[in-house]
Parts: sequence; C-alpha cells; structure tokens
Amino acid sequence: MAEVSGQTLKLDGKVSIITGGASGIGEATARLFVKHGALVVIVDIQDELGQKVADSLGSDHCTYFHCDVADEQQVISAVNFTVGTYGRLDIMFSNAGIVSTSKQTVLDLDLTQFDRLYAINARGTAACVKHAARAMVEKHVRGSIICTASVAASRGGSSRTDYVMAKHAVLGLVRSASKQLGVHGIRVNCVSPSAVVTSLSKRSPEATKKTMKLYEKLSSLKGIELTVERVADAVLFLASEGSSFITGHDLPVDGGLTKLPDEDD
Ligand code: NAD
Repeated sequence: MAEVSGQTLKLDGKVSIITGGASGIGEATARLFVKHGALVVIVDIQDELGQKVADSLGSDHCTYFHCDVADEQQVISAVNFTVGTYGRLDIMFSNAGIVSTSKQTVLDLDLTQFDRLYAINARGTAACVKHAARAMVEKHVRGSIICTASVAASRGGSSRTDYVMAKHAVLGLVRSASKQLGVHGIRVNCVSPSAVVTSLSKRSPEATKKTMKLYEKLSSLKGIELTVERVADAVLFLASEGSSFITGHDLPVDGGLTKLPDEDD
C-alpha cells in the first residue's frame, strides 16, 4: 500500500535563508515558514525593517543578517553565519530583487541602472544559489532551493527590459542548477508571481498600475487578487516534502495568466 505522507507542508527544524525577507513576498514567506516550524535567517539590506520582522517572529525562530546579495563575499558570510549558528542549511529562498525606476525600453536603456539591477536580480541570485548549494553538498543535505522569478521571465515587456532580462536569467539558472544538483538530491525551483502589491511595486506606481490592470484582465481567476501570502504558500510547497520529486520547475502564481492563452490573443 502507498505510504500516506501527512507531513507534506511541515518544515520542522528546517534551517532556511530568505533573501529580501524584510518586506513583501520574503517577509510573508518568513512568517509562513516559522509558522510551519522552520528556523529562518532573514537576509536583507534594510537592517531596521529586517530586525523588526525577526524580532516579531521571536529570536528562537528567526534571526536577521545584513547582506547585500550583489556582493558575493556578503552572501558567503550569510551562508557561513547560518551554518555556523544552526549547523546546516536546508532551504534557500533567493528572493531579493529590485525594479527599474525608469521605463528602460530598448531605445532608452540606462546601462548603469541595468548593471545595478542585474547585479542584484540575476548575479545576486546566482551567488545565493551557488553558496547555498555548496553548503548543502558539504553537509550532505538534500535541500531545496527556490528563487523568485516572475511572469516577466516568460514574456517580453513593453518596458523594463533590464528586469525582464534578469528574470529570464533566473529561469536559466534554475534550469541549469536543477540539472546539476539533482545528483546531490538538491531540488531547485522558482515561483513566478504576477503583479502583487509590495514596496517594490510601489516604487514604480504608474507602471505597476498599468501592469496590474493588464494582469487582472488576463487572469482566469476573476475576483481574486494576488497577495504576498498566496505567493508564500507556493514557496512553502516547493520548500517542503510535498514537492519532494519536483525540480527544475517554474511555478507560476498568476491566476493562469502565462499558461492559459487569452481568447483575444
Ligand atoms: P519588496 O521590495 O517588498 O521586497 C524586496 C526585498 O529585497 C526588500 O526587503 C529589499 O530591501 C530587498 N533587497 C533589495 N536589494 C537587495 C540586495 N541587494 N540585497 C539583499 N536584499 C535586497 O518587493 P517584493 O515584491 O516582495 O519582491 C520580492 C521578489 O519578488 C523580487 O525578486 C521581485 O522581482 C519579485 N516579484 C515581485 C512582483 C511584484 O509584483 N511585487 C512580481 C513578480 C516578482
């Protein structure tokens, strides 16, 4: 007879790093992970906010560590801190990201802005995946790595070319890393949310309003809005044993937007 798991969404004692955990999707995921028994290290550059979130979750369950993911040495320090404190690393949620503040169409790409965004959203994600995987391999941990991509990872955009490119890169990383790390029992997946209100989306209110309206129209799930908690639910699934045979997957959290063709297309 088949085994009945029943443990699927539990993270009891699992040691996790959440980058960008001081706000938005990362914060919601930190709260959900702790609720499901995980030990969480929040990694961010907003020290006051990150510390506040960690304090609210209790020092037995959550710690804050300053780390700019664009700096590989800081990523190494964050992973070393986690392994030094808790003895291992089971889950990496590489989620920190920024958006472009100007339109960034191909014709007016600001390449300095491009470099900064790419350093965080793409190269920073690669650094987090690399050093989390190294720590897992060293300790023989069959861990789970989850990245935050976006619906922008599978569509072109009328603006924000730098962001769209960086999210495509995250998808490429997830596909390669999952192929390479499967031999160690490490799973690598990503979530791809559509538009959700966070401090990130508020930084570019006009573009966000336009995108939200479009995504609402394209979503098959009418009358339901995407919230950070709904994204966190998907991350929890990918982190937990409930997804133990799932790797290399891009899980859209978008009301069907990317997978269900629009009748008007
Ligand atoms: P947010 O601004 O609320 O959270 C992002 C967090 O990342 C912040 O706490 C910020 O301080 C942190 N961060 C930024 N640069 C960093 C760096 N260099 N090092 C460490 N931390 C850094 O925004 P969010 O919407 O929760 O964004 C989380 C992820 O979700 C991002 O990767 C974003 O691209 C992705 N995403 C967001 C949406 C959306 O509509 N909000 C949609 C799809 C994907």
